[in-house]
Amino acid sequence: MHKTVIIGTGPGGLTAAIYLARAGLEPLVIEGPEPGGQLTTTTEVENFPGFPEGVMGPELMDNMRKQAERFGAKFRSGWVNQVDFSQRPFTLTVEGMGEVQAESVIISTGASAKYLGIPGEKENVGRGVSTCATCDGFFFRNKKIIVVGGGDSAMEEANYLTRFASEVVLVNRRSELRASKIMQNRARANDKISWSLDRTPLEVMAGERGVTGLKARNNETGLEEIIEADGVFIAIGHTPNTKFLGGQLTTDEQGYLLVKPGTTEMNIPGVFACGDVQDSRYRQAISAAGTGCMAALDCERFLDEAPLHAEAAAR
Ligand code: NDP
Repeated sequence: MHKTVIIGTGPGGLTAAIYLARAGLEPLVIEGPEPGGQLTTTTEVENFPGFPEGVMGPELMDNMRKQAERFGAKFRSGWVNQVDFSQRPFTLTVEGMGEVQAESVIISTGASAKYLGIPGEKENVGRGVSTCATCDGFFFRNKKIIVVGGGDSAMEEANYLTRFASEVVLVNRRSELRASKIMQNRARANDKISWSLDRTPLEVMAGERGVTGLKARNNETGLEEIIEADGVFIAIGHTPNTKFLGGQLTTDEQGYLLVKPGTTEMNIPGVFACGDVQDSRYRQAISAAGTGCMAALDCERFLDEAPLHAEAAAR
């Protein structure tokens, strides 16, 4: 039985772990398949306060983890298959660990980039297909890149990639863009960006040396065409990692956890959420870390005010 279990080890989960470990609550932290979260797939992080020269994403996460361990947080690898929040202690079923009981749970499982689900896409990740311009843009110096998507992410990625690329082609399945006006205008003002709108991506084309282009259907003419490029960046949004919760917690229509405004509390007392799993808007390392701190403080207060033995006696 653990006083608190933290699921996920991005900046949100690790900050919560630092705070709870320092408070003497010996949190158990369960790491999923991507320990450290999305920042471990980034290179340099230039906007995390306190690092005037920047810091490498993996190093930042490694340091946060060491900081939590120093105060007594315990880490275990495992995949949480199932949760039972119907009564305290809560029960988590974890692959490789069996059942884990917890008085409180903090969910910080983040969000994952969406893929198009077309042939040639997944098999060419790392060979020209990417979902992260800040991670991989550097490898496309003076090359032609396609960015797929029409939201703010796509505009931001396209603009960012023009730092490296000779040309960026923005491909969107509709002629209207979902992105905010300001982001659209910024991208439209960038003369390295050209537009291939109303095109449905059908297949990522690749040869022996990686990606060669994207096959797409021109929705106006119905004809298929191939847009040549050395890289295809997919920027069609993120999916919060909340499936394993089996619908026991309130979410918005996209699956993001809905915390009580101004707190990290979920609809079940004793369950808290922090980081990108409850934030589709800011999605920054520092904002995830901030909500991680909030979750730890909310959790600490909850454990003080609602000790399990009192709840058991009332049953
Ligand atoms: P959005 O959901 O806003 O946009 C997704 C885009 O991808 C849409 O153009 C959508 O097309 C397209 N798309 C989705 N699925 C497919 C598919 N299967 N095939 C082809 N195209 C597809 O996601 P974003 O990540 O862009 O933005 C998410 C949130 O984050 C927004 O609230 C945004 O404002 C915010 N954000 C803010 C930033 C900033 O302010 N700096 C930067 C990045 C994001 P369609 O329109 O046809 O559905």
